[in-house]
Amino acid sequence: NLTFENVCHHFGSKEILCGIDLVAEAGGILCLLGPSGSGKTTLLRIAAGIERQSEGRLLLNGREMAGPGVFVPPELRGVGLMFQDYALFPHMTLLKNVAFGLSGLSQAAARRAAGSALERVGLSNRGDQYPHMLSGGEQQRVALARALAPRPSVLLMDEPFSGLDSRLKDVIRTDTLQILRETRATAIVVTHDAEEAMRMGDKIALLRGGRLVQTGTGAELYRNPVDLFTAGFFSELN
Ligand code: ATP
Repeated sequence: NLTFENVCHHFGSKEILCGIDLVAEAGGILCLLGPSGSGKTTLLRIAAGIERQSEGRLLLNGREMAGPGVFVPPELRGVGLMFQDYALFPHMTLLKNVAFGLSGLSQAAARRAAGSALERVGLSNRGDQYPHMLSGGEQQRVALARALAPRPSVLLMDEPFSGLDSRLKDVIRTDTLQILRETRATAIVVTHDAEEAMRMGDKIALLRGGRLVQTGTGAELYRNPVDLFTAGFFSELN
């Protein structure tokens, strides 16, 4: 699991995150939920090692990744990142796109691992095609395959469905959830959408102004909101 211990972050004199104590359980999906500017992306970047927190510690499976005097660089953390815009390479086949991050393996082993990752997302016969030949939803699945191919300890996803239209979003979200379950992935998913967090998260951490307001299952936050802010966030759901 991935543990944030009293994580705080400042940009200059501006406090962005403060006192974050949070655990992403192994094999579970943790949703970071909150309005724009609440610090969700910054927390994800800290988990990835793209940003180094000003205070506190980050542990992955008991090993310190970042803390006072300790900083493990992103490429050595064993975390996978999936970006909003998928960031596929247009000039590479799907197979090469997925194999790209598998630099530690021989070419043949990387191809095999990429092939099985594409199979996991239902695109095993499309490996020789290029990203522009795919629908938005299929591109999203390739990005997921690429993020899962190195078998990361934790998969970090920043607003993974925001680029999709609302009809497609439902289908892709269900597909993604199934793939994450089948691969028993540990994932942190950033979203500003309470409904999405309810659907995906085994646990939801609600942020406001860089602080954790409430952490719990969707049902707990929905039924027993600690304050009006939480209640307001979930009030549009039925
Ligand atoms: P959104 O949903 O809009 O992406 P968020 O909850 O992910 O919002 P962050 O992107 O983590 O929020 O930003 C939190 C705060 O930190 C914002 O006020 C933002 O302006 C500020 N911030 C983010 N990155 C930087 C930076 N590199 N330098 C200074 N301030 C930053």
